[in-house]
Amino acid sequence: MLKVLNHKSFDKNQLLLRASERRDTAWGKIVTYSRKVFVPLTNMCRDTCSYCTFVKHPNSKSARILDPDAVMDIVRLGERSGCKEVLLSLGEKPELRYEKARKELRKLGFSTMVGYLKFICQMILRESTLLPHVNAGTLSEDEISSLKPVTASMGMMLETVSRRLTKRGMPHFACPDKVPIQRIRTMNNMGILKVPFTTGVLIGIGESWDERIDALKAIEESHRKYNHIQEVIVQNFVPKPDIRMRNFPEPDQAEMLITIALARLILSPEISIQSPPNLSASHVNYLDAGLNDWGGISPVTDDYINPEKAWPKIEELRASTKSKGFLLRERLTVYPRFQNKEDGFLTPRIAEHVVSLRRPDGLARKQFC
Ligand code: SF4
Repeated sequence: MLKVLNHKSFDKNQLLLRASERRDTAWGKIVTYSRKVFVPLTNMCRDTCSYCTFVKHPNSKSARILDPDAVMDIVRLGERSGCKEVLLSLGEKPELRYEKARKELRKLGFSTMVGYLKFICQMILRESTLLPHVNAGTLSEDEISSLKPVTASMGMMLETVSRRLTKRGMPHFACPDKVPIQRIRTMNNMGILKVPFTTGVLIGIGESWDERIDALKAIEESHRKYNHIQEVIVQNFVPKPDIRMRNFPEPDQAEMLITIALARLILSPEISIQSPPNLSASHVNYLDAGLNDWGGISPVTDDYINPEKAWPKIEELRASTKSKGFLLRERLTVYPRFQNKEDGFLTPRIAEHVVSLRRPDGLARKQFC
């Protein structure tokens, strides 16, 4: 039904209208966000995506793994600022490629990043009120199982299902974790292991419209099997001076609106459709295309993936959202439909932590892990 060659062949107004109606039916006039802090646990990565500015080569002085004290400084700053989510972002398995990563991990007492990540999540749960949300890229079943008891939700951008983009000269060349089947496997394993899961598509890295639609369909297929996807991010590529794709064009607003609308129409209605508000000056127009969530917004830390793009102030976002007839409302990193203890999406300890955050006093609980 939606197989097309380019976005010029869509009736844009019809598409946006249908997508908005579907959003209104499922979500009403509420648009959500999660108040978070961002912890870049390591900026080393074994992959080298052509659009990435987050990653630093181990030869760079700024390549590092944050130690527990540095993590807790950020977490406490978030707590003082009323945040409820700590987003732990990290490059993929740098220890498999670089001695510097292995050496830093050894100094911290670990042999793998996932082992260290688990320790950090336990510390955050023990010493703060924040809920960990982990973006650690592709993970095996064992790794997901080890992280589930210490996280409220996990994420990994599917980005694309295009194998073409892994060929020489393309953005995912020589990136073992960007082979589409690896990411689809992780997405499915998250479902099998009942993890509330965030994924998404990256727009404008050279994928065709058909490939973009195929990525959305792959997400929907996984969700239909496991019912585990809570939100899908439609994220636009942003050129930066220090990346190999610095001269690549940014997707225009029409392309973003059509992709958001397609996501809303292809994906099950209970899945949130999200796009980062700091990556487009006219993000408020996304509300015309079926979007119902702005994702994580930090009042205190940068967007380390796009450090030149400041988060909007939450009150500004509230006002612009209202100008389109919607109410902005805060949510937790784990959506309400996954918070029922009996469904197995949260371990009892995480469920308890969620309940304490929902209490008006938001009491910090010690002795958690
Ligand atoms: S896998 Fe992620 S962190 Fe690593 S290079 Fe690619 S985009 Fe950057």
